[in-house]
Amino acid sequence: MSTDALERRAAADVVAGAASPPSGSGMNERILQINDFCVDYGVDEGAVRAVDGVDLHLDRSKVLGVAGESGSGKSTLVYGFTRLLRAPALITGGTAFFNVGPASEGGPDEFIDLVTANEATLRRVRWTQISVVIQSALNALNPVVRVGSLFNQVFKAHRREMSRADRRTRAIELLELVGLNPDRLQRFPHELSGGQRQRVMIALALALDPQLVIMDEPTTALDVVTQREILGELAELRARFGFAMIFITHDLSLLVELADEIVVMYAGRLVERAGARALYDAPRHPYTLGLLNSFPPMHGERQELTGIPGAPPDLSDLPSGCAFHPRCPYAMERCAAERPPLAKLSEEGRYVACWLHVDEVHATVPVELRRAVPTTSAGEGGAT
Ligand code: ATP
Ligand code: SF4
Repeated sequence: MSTDALERRAAADVVAGAASPPSGSGMNERILQINDFCVDYGVDEGAVRAVDGVDLHLDRSKVLGVAGESGSGKSTLVYGFTRLLRAPALITGGTAFFNVGPASEGGPDEFIDLVTANEATLRRVRWTQISVVIQSALNALNPVVRVGSLFNQVFKAHRREMSRADRRTRAIELLELVGLNPDRLQRFPHELSGGQRQRVMIALALALDPQLVIMDEPTTALDVVTQREILGELAELRARFGFAMIFITHDLSLLVELADEIVVMYAGRLVERAGARALYDAPRHPYTLGLLNSFPPMHGERQELTGIPGAPPDLSDLPSGCAFHPRCPYAMERCAAERPPLAKLSEEGRYVACWLHVDEVHATVPVELRRAVPTTSAGEGGAT
């Protein structure tokens, strides 16, 4: 991400906060805990809610996949809790506790609420502890700044103690990590291919050893071969450095290989959450099933792609009850009247917002939405 992009002021006003940070025996493993997080665009009658009451958490070294069609709120969620959104975005509720480590050696980990943190605190955390690879590498990289200068800017801003020689050595090391020749340091972004630019973005994101890396559709604009190469490299980098990752995409089949857990968003809300393999093998929400039927699988036999009928809803005029009901092949009378909560199922780690499952009376659940989860994959994560 360019310095410009990272230094974008968090212009979104904040009217949220409160709640308590994570506590208890597992707290040192937790790096992010988001509760009841809401973001609106605009105010008063003109406001639309783009993220609505999202709860999620992420533990160290884990990968959380965020999936959903265009406009489902994926980017607003992550740019919201990292406070990178500009007005007219307004955080209207919730907390986002991030683990900044112990205040003194051996002490318990401390959490800051990113939602209410001031600019100085956010500056300290961004890039050094949380970095973001935004959607379009071409737009994110300043076209008139050579790649080497981009690395220099990051180190000068955050590692003032580094000498010029150290900065160059580290930049070369980072380029090599992502499979780029060090001569790319002399190049301008427009002289690189899409895949090379994306690799530069990833190298910049890793420059300061963050513990959380957020990837917003980093491979969407790339051909399938380059996409596979970059995903493979990311898996290796994670295995080596152990950072946690939030990976946003509309392609669920891509997430199953990468993520430990997946959340699926529709109209700003989480509609399903489960272990990656379990969600892929046995989706419970009709929207998740529709998403899975919209993309060819990465491996295995060819399948007919049926997609999802209709289009995502207009946030200023959301359907009543379950927002998915006008597009849902299983919709019942109740669906248009009442909004289903994200409810925990008896199956480990599975949460679903759908009336078909809320009572878990299997007789009412279509067979394709009550597939057994293979025992080897129940509740497990992805390949990495
Ligand atoms: P994509 O995959 O296309 O990036 P997304 O799932 O990340 O989509 P968001 O970009 O977060 O979705 O958008 C969520 C909703 O917020 C969309 O309905 C969008 O129209 C709306 N939205 C985004 N930016 C603004 C804005 N500046 N003003 C008003 N509404 C906005
Ligand atoms: Fe479909 Fe009803 Fe479930 Fe919504 S609640 S996904 S409309 S069955």
